[in-house]
Amino acid sequence: MDYQAVLEQIVQDIAPQVGGGRPAEYIPVLASVDPSLFGMAIAEVDGTVHGIGDWQRPFSTQSITKVFTLALALAQGGDGLWARVGREPSGNPFNSLVQLEYENGIPRNPFINAGALVVTDQLLTLNGDASNELLGFLRQESGNPRLGFDAQVARSESEFGDRNAALAHFMASYGNIANPVPTLLEHYFRQCSIEMSCGDLALACRFLARHGLRADNTRLLTRSEAKQINAVMLTCGTYDAAGEFAYRVGLPGKSGVGGGIVAVVPGHCTLCVWSPGLDARGNSVAGVAALDRFTTLTGLSVF
Ligand code: GLU
Repeated sequence: MDYQAVLEQIVQDIAPQVGGGRPAEYIPVLASVDPSLFGMAIAEVDGTVHGIGDWQRPFSTQSITKVFTLALALAQGGDGLWARVGREPSGNPFNSLVQLEYENGIPRNPFINAGALVVTDQLLTLNGDASNELLGFLRQESGNPRLGFDAQVARSESEFGDRNAALAHFMASYGNIANPVPTLLEHYFRQCSIEMSCGDLALACRFLARHGLRADNTRLLTRSEAKQINAVMLTCGTYDAAGEFAYRVGLPGKSGVGGGIVAVVPGHCTLCVWSPGLDARGNSVAGVAALDRFTTLTGLSVF
């Protein structure tokens, strides 16, 4: 497959949609990003990377990091995690509180904020430094030792973090948070602030296309755990628009409010696309359009 030619075709096809939507507005540092930026990268399972546009420019990964913390928590702690967090789409916004009361403080899935807080809490219990554990993992898998936290984003997340604090305290009241809430929030906000490019992220996700094998060929996840994470990405990875994403793209994917989306073609490649303009559900407008074109042009989808 000539992936570079595919990327060039995609850029032509989706040009009218680049700049559509609005950047996330809940923190000023994200609201000021230029919505006309666009980058896309494909990493083949052997590590060959193809990219186009702003594919080497770092952006705020935000919720995309939820995929990696889930993988680390499962790899290090096993599937006991699923007693604390569900695997069903929420149908509600990513920061919603409402279902938690009906479901005894058990979040619907690991990719909404409540679920991600539980996963980070599990990782903290397992190794004491969840955010640095995550950063070390991302550096290794991407091969980029310069990856780091964006202190300004982390501070802003904390300053405007009342909703996440409420979610964590509410779950703690049900006994579903083990660590002190302020410590948990600090790690969660740092996690959200990690900056990576499309190239870095496409490489870092490769274990999901390689059935659980890390970049150095050691095993992070069993084949079946890798399948399970891909399945949860497909059903829950793109906020309350996962049905629409599956319909249009047909791949496991995870988006973040920084405008990035990662997607996995198991056995073939991983993709990352970035463009900061979001639709009403929080997914990148040009990003979804680009992935839609990718599966249409290549026929590579899980369906
Ligand atoms: N830092 C964001 C929050 O927790 C992450 C949102 C996202 O990318 O979905 O509110």
